[in-house]
Amino acid sequence: MKYSKFSAVIIGSGIAGLYAALKIEQQLQLPNGVLLITKSKLGESNSYYAQGGMVAVLKENENDSVESHVTDTIKAGAGLSELDTIRFISENSDKVVKDLLKFGVEFDRDENGKFTLTKEAAHSVRRILHSGGDATGREMEIALCQAVKENKNITVYEDTVAVDLLIDDEVCGGVILLNSQDEYETIYSNTVVMATGGLGQLYQYTTNPKGATGDGFALSYRAGTVLQDMEFVQFHPTALAFDGAENRFLISEAVRGEGAKLCDEFGMEFMFKYHEKKELAPRDIVARSIFCEMNNNGDPCVFLNATGLGEEKLLKRFPTIAKKCKEYDIDIAQDLIPVAPAAHYFMGGVKTNIRGESSIKGLYAIGEVSSTGLHGGNRLASNSLLECVVCAYEVAEYLKTVGLPVEENFENNQEFKAIIEKYSNDVDLKQVDVKAMKAELQATMWSGVGIFRNEQVMKSAQDNIAKLSKEFNREDKCLSKDEYELRNMLITAELIVRSALNRKESRGAHYRVDYLNTNEVCEHSLIVKNKGEINFVK
Ligand SMILES: Cc1cc2nc3c(=O)[nH]c(=O)nc-3n(C[C@H](O)[C@H](O)[C@H](O)COP(=O)(O)OP(=O)(O)OC[C@H]3O[C@@H](n4cnc5c(N)ncnc54)[C@H](O)[C@@H]3O)c2cc1C
Repeated sequence: MKYSKFSAVIIGSGIAGLYAALKIEQQLQLPNGVLLITKSKLGESNSYYAQGGMVAVLKENENDSVESHVTDTIKAGAGLSELDTIRFISENSDKVVKDLLKFGVEFDRDENGKFTLTKEAAHSVRRILHSGGDATGREMEIALCQAVKENKNITVYEDTVAVDLLIDDEVCGGVILLNSQDEYETIYSNTVVMATGGLGQLYQYTTNPKGATGDGFALSYRAGTVLQDMEFVQFHPTALAFDGAENRFLISEAVRGEGAKLCDEFGMEFMFKYHEKKELAPRDIVARSIFCEMNNNGDPCVFLNATGLGEEKLLKRFPTIAKKCKEYDIDIAQDLIPVAPAAHYFMGGVKTNIRGESSIKGLYAIGEVSSTGLHGGNRLASNSLLECVVCAYEVAEYLKTVGLPVEENFENNQEFKAIIEKYSNDVDLKQVDVKAMKAELQATMWSGVGIFRNEQVMKSAQDNIAKLSKEFNREDKCLSKDEYELRNMLITAELIVRSALNRKESRGAHYRVDYLNTNEVCEHSLIVKNKGEINFVK
């Protein structure tokens, strides 16, 4: 086991992690430097694939206001959003966008140099910045990765997976890593920022790339951190409905925002049957409507008709989507696009405030792994990138205000030693078929804890998760990165199913056919590990 010490460690190289690393480096004196860890190559993340854009309530946008953005976000959030959080994030959006420009991030502008803004479902005005047409995440990632690479004070470990946190008495003292040569390393640090993104890969159909295995939720839970609203998985209504790949390509909501219609194979529209806002109804409603149409007709998909937008506009606004569809022989200016819902975003996560503080001292969480209360029960489109950047900015501001904690005598800490020992010792583990087990878990979550839920199917999913965990039979140390991912997926799946069973109502993206009503009292669900068991906190 190798040992190192850093002033701050950031786990994850999505937009939240990259920007946090840059801001922390900019704002603080760091005697031991910053370490950025990513289990893939720098840049590979959910962030890279974000298409539609990022919300910003810009001072120069006379049609918009913080009030209007707050109202739209609250409406989408199904009563679970936190007003103060939304207001703070909205109020700070203009400042953070202008700061991002200094790190080389750019957004699309018109011929007069003004930002061009688009609209997505459930937004009342045009307020979404985009970049490269429909490649917002890719453009932001490329710029931030470049800034990180040019920054000599930020050390980057690629192809390195964080496998456990060092915790003593609810204080974080670092993280244990496994690199691609199968070597373990302990990193001591009083400041660990979890920016590990989401968990779409827990589901059979997802828009998320293969790294979105929920590691940060599992690591934080194992460490005794409080997690919030773990039942709230957002299913995107329109993923390109072709099988074979590890994920499904997203057809951005912005396509519907610009006027595309949902229809059957003959072009008959159906959204008017489900909601007055039709295609622009909140995401959960559109996803459920599509699912109903598919089930009623016994079809594997519905269709999106974007032909009315005209070829010129489609190619200018949606070049990435047009190119991807072409690979499947679909000309989006002439053909209907086959689409179906897929797991897309996770509203729950490590309970934090807007500064990323978790219930464990020294452990911060930002981006999709966190649950600040912005999204509530259903995320408003393009609010997540905004949350990533505002919270990354704020965690650095906060650390600057309070100063980094004085280094402890890490090496002699008995609790840390006990955790490190688990990964130093050889273990005698039976080989398992990780790929097959992952696939079984994904199918279980899709059918059991998916778009429509009820007690019976969720209990059977829970039994199957327990069966898989028993068969896997790993508590701590595993044999490979893939095994660690499976370990984390199984833990996170259990947290989701337990939380979903516990919420006996339908709210936002959590839709129970056995409890169709929404309770009058609106409460977050909070869970924490206690004596090895999942405990609901009142
Ligand atoms: C296809 C698609 C389109 C989207 N479009 C939009 C959009 O238009 N607007 C919007 O606001 N949101 C959009 N979203 C959601 C948004 O992209 C994500 O919520 C956001 O990018 C999450 O950023 P993040 O930095 O928190 O995590 P990510 O970008 O997912 O980054 C997580 C990082 O953590 C690393 N990691 C994970 N586990 C470990 C570990 N154990 N050890 C080391 N490293 C680890 C990963 O390798 C990765 O680098 C979209 C999502 C998808 C999938």
